[in-house]
Amino acid sequence: MIRIGVDLGGTGIKTGAVDEKGNILSKVSRPTRPQRHYDEVIADIAGTARDAAREAGCDWDGIGGVGVGIPGVEDASTGIVPLCANLYWRDVPLRGRLGELLGKEVHVGNDATVAALAEHVAGASRGTENSVLVTLGTGVGTGVILNGKPFSGSHGVATELGHCVIRIDGELCTCGNRGCWERYASATALIREAKNRLLSEDGAVYRAVGGDPEALNAKIVLDCAKSGDPGALALFKEYAYWIALGLANIVSTYDPEIILLGGGVSAAGDFLLRAIQSPYEKAIFFKAMPYAPIGLAALGNDAGIIGAAML
Ligand SMILES: [Zn+2]
Repeated sequence: MIRIGVDLGGTGIKTGAVDEKGNILSKVSRPTRPQRHYDEVIADIAGTARDAAREAGCDWDGIGGVGVGIPGVEDASTGIVPLCANLYWRDVPLRGRLGELLGKEVHVGNDATVAALAEHVAGASRGTENSVLVTLGTGVGTGVILNGKPFSGSHGVATELGHCVIRIDGELCTCGNRGCWERYASATALIREAKNRLLSEDGAVYRAVGGDPEALNAKIVLDCAKSGDPGALALFKEYAYWIALGLANIVSTYDPEIILLGGGVSAAGDFLLRAIQSPYEKAIFFKAMPYAPIGLAALGNDAGIIGAAML
């Protein structure tokens, strides 16, 4: 059975036809241009879905269903997307409208949940029943698979672990609270701290950007830490500690078989995993029992399309 997976982001609509094993058979994309009315965006989603089926050589009647991963949540009882900041959406009936346009059953899921599902079906957590994917990017996204199925809680928001408070009266978060995990574990946090602490001293980070804070990005900080620059390394170790604390909280919450790291920061690979390991072990409560190893997500940008198709 071939299904259509749609990775809907603020920049692009990326759509593919996907087989049951999670292989992408075709890929098409269009710009989202989210400032326009949502009906136009949904019409474009429908267009990419039909294009993806055609490019994969599939008759539309043979398509088994359509899944959409969104940077937000859907109220599963109504099919309404109540709020999606990246798309400027409020109360958008995505499931119903798209279903009417395509004549297919449509399922909608949070993008991090969808990526976790993709890793479960065709990636690094394949063969497990319980897994968590943590994406370390602009924010911190989390997707949870329990008993082989995406877990979203009673109201679709169970996996916003990036907004668990881990530091009382800490950094102000975009959500309005202070001290959320993503204020310490995201790429944004790494860049913020590097700006605060590494641009006033003549170290590798300062030299890499010529002292210009606007030129700074997470990769530069990670590369400088990798090269052994003392300032960048100290900052990176502290950053890894904050990531580790949140991962230990995930173990206490879900006790998964594996936790995967994805998103831009995870490109640091084994260097990142090694730095996390020691503070992670220290923070685990129940050390007498096995606990989840930390691994790297395998599917990269394709996870959005594959996971959506698996909804
Ligand atoms: Zn928050």
